[in-house]
Amino acid sequence: MKLRILGRGLVNGLKVTGIHVFRRPVTRPYPERHAYAPERFRGRHRLVVEDCVVCQACARICPVNCLTVEGYRGDDRRFVLTAFTIDYGLCMFCDLCVEACPPHCLTMGPEFEMATTSRPRLVEGVAELARSAGASS
Ligand code: SF4
Ligand code: SF4
Repeated sequence: MKLRILGRGLVNGLKVTGIHVFRRPVTRPYPERHAYAPERFRGRHRLVVEDCVVCQACARICPVNCLTVEGYRGDDRRFVLTAFTIDYGLCMFCDLCVEACPPHCLTMGPEFEMATTSRPRLVEGVAELARSAGASS
């Protein structure tokens, strides 16, 4: 009885293998072939520095306090951004900061390869985020 069940299981298993063995694979051999990021993928942030009005809305809404914004009001009464950092060791890519940004100068792009063995390197500043924004255009 047990042998019959075992034999049926083996035949069914081989049948499934036979069906799928000649089909095209549905997975990609990453990193040899780059992974596809869908249009609304939430990856590394992109910041258009000139459009930032230093309103702090993004920093205030961040649930894990991983975003900091600093700036000052210039002589022409316009705010000037002096520092903008995101700690990707804490960021959970929730998109709330992007939704809160009034001039839509903060967005999220398709880049996701940010792995590093150095904890401080996970903190990205204006230079990295602005470069990311430049890469989108
Ligand atoms: S995506 Fe979410 S966790 Fe990351 S900086 Fe924005 S609000 Fe904070
Ligand atoms: S919400 Fe937008 S405009 Fe306001 S500080 Fe953040 S990035 Fe700048």
